[in-house]
Amino acid sequence: MKYWNARLKKMSEYVPGEQPENLSEFIKLNTNENPFPPPASVTEAMRKACDESIRRYPSPTSLSAREAFAKEHALGVENVMLGNGSDEIFTLLFRGFIEPKGLAAFPYPSYSLYYTLAEANGIKYEKLPLTASLDVNLDEYLKKPYDLVIIGNPNNPTGRGVEVKAIRAFLGKFAGLLVVDEAYVDFYGETAIGLVADFDNIIVTRSLSKSCSLAGMRVGFAAASKEIIQGLLKLKDSYNIDRVAEAAARAAILDRKGVAYNISMLRSNKEYLEERLADMDFEVVPSKANFLFVRHPSVPAADLFEQLKERKILVRYFTGPVQGEYVRITVGTMMEIKTLVKELGAIVTA
Ligand code: PMP
Repeated sequence: MKYWNARLKKMSEYVPGEQPENLSEFIKLNTNENPFPPPASVTEAMRKACDESIRRYPSPTSLSAREAFAKEHALGVENVMLGNGSDEIFTLLFRGFIEPKGLAAFPYPSYSLYYTLAEANGIKYEKLPLTASLDVNLDEYLKKPYDLVIIGNPNNPTGRGVEVKAIRAFLGKFAGLLVVDEAYVDFYGETAIGLVADFDNIIVTRSLSKSCSLAGMRVGFAAASKEIIQGLLKLKDSYNIDRVAEAAARAAILDRKGVAYNISMLRSNKEYLEERLADMDFEVVPSKANFLFVRHPSVPAADLFEQLKERKILVRYFTGPVQGEYVRITVGTMMEIKTLVKELGAIVTA
């Protein structure tokens, strides 16, 4: 740590969910990945992109995928950019869109990368607690002149969503920059993308990692005013998206039917899992995403996590107030869910 600067020494670290080497031995329900493969049209487009043209640099702004995304959402190309995962978009935002003296606010519990990036960039921030029902109350974000607010919609790890009409009302009163993180929006349905045309202080981020089964490709999108997108493009690495990822992104956007099929299967698997968990007396936070935030009256969450891991099932456990009472379970295939339910049954009745 001799050469680390003071900020690096002080900042908390973002700890991603475990990615075990011996993956095939585990049922992996800990990082909200999609258990189904991407549509065949997407893998085919990736294979095709891996031809001799790979010796050339890719499009600097991933134009073909930007165009597809812009068309899908009735936006101009100038309102869209691609990131190396939506995580890259957040990194760029913290780097270039808030002054060192600025103040940011994020919900708690939420996606802890927001806190990490604020610290990495020396930005002061406040964690605003969720309500008793684990919802975001946007009125809380009007109590101070925050320069930057990020809300996950739906929020991770709770799965709760904010209505777009509430976001619209909030933007009418808010002078800072609002980022709506829509990594899980395809499981929810209500998108704030339509607000980009009406407000110049909203950035909507999207991810292909969840609903589109492309976590390994690392593609995310930002939709915002032309000026914000220009700034993000100015900040990014010259070629932040490789040729294969651009092809995959374009194909995934064009094959909405294939992606929708996976989403509908996950929705029904989620309902099944919710019911089985309720049968075992779990408290299940009503979720708009592809994961469930749950706790049990007699087995502490940390024990649930450890005991499931011993049985080769990975779920996510976060320490800290509120979130330490729950585990977050990604909705998997029906076979994975049935094994999980069997093992949980054994754990809670032991
Ligand atoms: N936002 C939230 C709320 C997430 O949970 C995740 C996944 N960890 C991301 C963004 C990042 O997604 P991506 O894979 O696109 O970087």
